[in-house]
Amino acid sequence: MHEMSLAEDVLQLINEASVKDQFTKVVTVWLEIGQLSSVEPQSMAFCFDAIKRGSVAAGARLEILALPGVGWCEDCATSVPMSDAFCECPQCGGYQVRITGGTEMRVKELEVE
Ligand SMILES: [Zn+2]
Repeated sequence: MHEMSLAEDVLQLINEASVKDQFTKVVTVWLEIGQLSSVEPQSMAFCFDAIKRGSVAAGARLEILALPGVGWCEDCATSVPMSDAFCECPQCGGYQVRITGGTEMRVKELEVE
């Protein structure tokens, strides 16, 4: 389950932010997960819950925001929505689609006290 190491990355980022911005308690974590990132939001929430104990994020609520997948179709020369990384262009049915968005995972915002 690679979500565990990703959750640890998120927690580390929060810890670094708590030192830099001098907060001691995180209330909410907004995490953006791209639909093409192969990160399972439920697994992510489970792993984050498991490792947050004893940290500044111990009482934090994890809010997951899904980022839609976006691709660029070479044939249509246009941006198209993508539901998975290997699907064809929804407009022309071609496979010349380059993924341009929705593969990332990042902490969008922290609500702190
Ligand atoms: Zn197309």
